[in-house]
Amino acid sequence: MNLPAHRERSFGPWTGSVQNPLIIAGPCSAESLEQVLSVAHSLKKEGQTQLFRAGVWKPRTRPGQFEGAGYNALEWLQTMRNEVGLPFVIEVANADHVEKALAVHADAVWIGARTTVNPFYVQEIAEALRGSKIPVLVKNPIHADLGLWLGALERLDSAGLHDLAAVHRGFFSSHAAPYRNEPRWEMSFELRRQAPNVPIICDPSHIAGDRRLVEHVSQVAMDIQMDGLMIEVHPDPDQALSDAAQQITPSTLYQLLRKLEANAPKDVALQEVIDSERLKLDEVDSEMVKLLRQRMDIVDALGQLKVSHNAGIFQMDRWFDLLQKRGMQAEDLSLNRAFIEELFQVVHKYSVEHQVAVYRDKRKTREE
Ligand code: PEP
Ligand code: MN
Repeated sequence: MNLPAHRERSFGPWTGSVQNPLIIAGPCSAESLEQVLSVAHSLKKEGQTQLFRAGVWKPRTRPGQFEGAGYNALEWLQTMRNEVGLPFVIEVANADHVEKALAVHADAVWIGARTTVNPFYVQEIAEALRGSKIPVLVKNPIHADLGLWLGALERLDSAGLHDLAAVHRGFFSSHAAPYRNEPRWEMSFELRRQAPNVPIICDPSHIAGDRRLVEHVSQVAMDIQMDGLMIEVHPDPDQALSDAAQQITPSTLYQLLRKLEANAPKDVALQEVIDSERLKLDEVDSEMVKLLRQRMDIVDALGQLKVSHNAGIFQMDRWFDLLQKRGMQAEDLSLNRAFIEELFQVVHKYSVEHQVAVYRDKRKTREE
């Protein structure tokens, strides 16, 4: 069986796949011509970076911090492209940024996490980009709302921008530790399901927030078949004017990429074993769904009984009892108790909702 995820997905003239991820690298911010050229020369020499990233206007949480070099940075990036030959991608957050990015023929643009949250901004950017055909990367919104992420891609697509990719940069969360932004891989899977042709690039730098975790997050991204990586690289990370803690040096990037390469799936025989194990999982999953059907039949019968005796739908004690019993069973079977409790919370929620619906219907027919 051939896994479709092994296929290549394209983003403008660039492509990414598990074996050959699309690598976007460069500093968080363009700080000086020397810094831009130094990183770009190293990346070019290493050979795997296809697109050079650098922030020109920086969205900072608090005022008074470095807000990007603006117009000067655009000049440095053009010089870099002429001298080094790497195409570049920059962030745009409003129509004015778009106008300036198009004027310098940026090779691609990205919409940042703080912009994707607001459909007004996204629409403004889409209108400003209309007719340009420039490839656009859309970072996930800061908070975990898939609709906003998909919505931004749809707004751009409707404006005639069809070279799109999504960037998973993690989500604001009080449970993010040890990361800066919580990775929500399941959101990427859902995005993949709903928009199968859109490449998904992982930004391990903004997920990690700490350079020691960048390699680990990159490996996870490759293991779950993301199409590429966007990594912040700085010649002297500790001195960086923005996101110092998460940037890595070019030589750390080379080592990281070599390790990912070494771990890339190659073994066809292994794939066959994996596929056959998955068939077993499919059987178990199918049994689980059938059991849930049986459970729902009982829930239905109970609902009818409750209606005919005018009994309440939800009994707190019964719910605590269920949780307790299944939690203990989970422990006996060496299953994570929290996992089983969470699972039953979902099962129970739908059962109660179902009974409430039955109750409402019955009451309605009685009243008629
Ligand atoms: C960035 O890439 O430097 C950046 C500001 O990203 P995000 O919008 O993901 O915070
Ligand atoms: Mn950054």
